[in-house]
Amino acid sequence: MFLTGAIYQAMVGHARSAAPNEACGIVAGMKEKVLKFYPASNREASPTHYLLEPAEQFEIFREVEERGWGLLGIFHSHPEASAFPSQQDIEMAYYPDLIHLIVSLRKGPPELRGFWIRGGKVVEEEIQIGPETEGENSTCDNPKRVADHKALLRKDRLAMTDCN
Ligand SMILES: [Zn+2]
Repeated sequence: MFLTGAIYQAMVGHARSAAPNEACGIVAGMKEKVLKFYPASNREASPTHYLLEPAEQFEIFREVEERGWGLLGIFHSHPEASAFPSQQDIEMAYYPDLIHLIVSLRKGPPELRGFWIRGGKVVEEEIQIGPETEGENSTCDNPKRVADHKALLRKDRLAMTDCN
């Protein structure tokens, strides 16, 4: 999955604004390229759970269809846990065809990872954060952080199970 620095920053900003509760949202686009991040309200308003507000989810799905895009991923944040699906994330993964994007704010720079969750199995999807395309300037205010983040993404850390 490919996304721009601006979209990455929008996800991190949404996660920070919802903290200490989990944030959630949807990403949509074409093929593997994310074209828009749709922040949504967490109906659970919880630091450990999330549920997209159904009315907002409906509106997002409708707009994505109108634009002729596809739903690519479902996003949520982990304010205190690592960027790995929790047991509940795995048990309640209702979208086998969407990448589950998780931003962790636990410590240090935010970390974004993506996973397919199918039948209780978790498989990591590489998330590539690139510059803006079609001549737009990147709105990322901290390119080094994104570079650090990409370095982190290269490490295979699927074995990590310290998510609570
Ligand atoms: Zn989670």
